[in-house]
Amino acid sequence: MRKFFLYIILIVFICFCIPIIFANAFSNTTEKIASEQVIEKQNKQIKDENEKNIYNYGKYSEIKLLHAKTNKVESVKLDEYLLNVVSAEMPATYEEEALKAQAVVARTYTIYKIENGGKHKNADICDDSTCCQAWISKEDRLNKWKEDVRDKNWKKIEQAVNSTKGEIITYDGKPINAFFHASSGGFTEKPINVWGGSGYPYLQVVETSGEEGYSQYSSKAEFSEKELLEKLKQKYSDIKINFEKKDEIKITEYTDSNRVRTVKFGNKNLSGVETRTILGLRSTNFKITQEDGKIKFSVIGYGHRSWNEPNRSRCTS
Ligand SMILES: [Zn+2]
Repeated sequence: MRKFFLYIILIVFICFCIPIIFANAFSNTTEKIASEQVIEKQNKQIKDENEKNIYNYGKYSEIKLLHAKTNKVESVKLDEYLLNVVSAEMPATYEEEALKAQAVVARTYTIYKIENGGKHKNADICDDSTCCQAWISKEDRLNKWKEDVRDKNWKKIEQAVNSTKGEIITYDGKPINAFFHASSGGFTEKPINVWGGSGYPYLQVVETSGEEGYSQYSSKAEFSEKELLEKLKQKYSDIKINFEKKDEIKITEYTDSNRVRTVKFGNKNLSGVETRTILGLRSTNFKITQEDGKIKFSVIGYGHRSWNEPNRSRCTS
């Protein structure tokens, strides 16, 4: 009888336990193979992506620079040209990382200009900041710095350009149209909200926190009723504002990045961009208050250049 039970236990072990053990072992192996395949696939995707981002712009090692004042075209090495651009666009006292970012943006913008056709017939780019990109000769740059910091500053610019050699920003394997600003005021703006057009898929509203400590982060502008009216009349001679009435001056619409899209001034509706230009505000991110016959604008952020420059090209704030 005891033997009979031992046989039963043995049969149960052979019929159930052994298959379970094998099934588990097989399943573990299958899972391992599957996860290895996923990792391999991910690595391949990363490798492909990196390869796509390596953009060969070696053919542009030398560019044709137009000096707008003299109308002369000069052939210059790209990275040498960037020393003059970075030192014109950003103070050398800024952080090394900021200067490096500026170098990458300037390099990207230059290549984008060459590839997408600039405004100049016999040159790739010019040295006029209101048309293409700021530029200053090394001699003029050094003379503007105090003698004791000249060497140190120039070396800092060289370090920023040389340590980013070969780096540009690409989207879908192509250089992007690299816009920049002094301070975005916490959020960037879509270029489409400023210049119209079809926009760029890689330029969207994104949060850019941490700018609060920047000295130009916020600003104020104040106008008397008479001053405001005079400024607006330069563009709209038939504008009428009844300052006694409530809601005669009022923001009526905002963009996705919470900048002003439209403002009502009496019988006219102006865009935020237009208001910024006419009143010389630093950004379209502003609030309006009225007090004691004064119209006050509290502005956040600082676009790189003024919107009213007819050929200005690259600001997003
Ligand atoms: Zn130009």
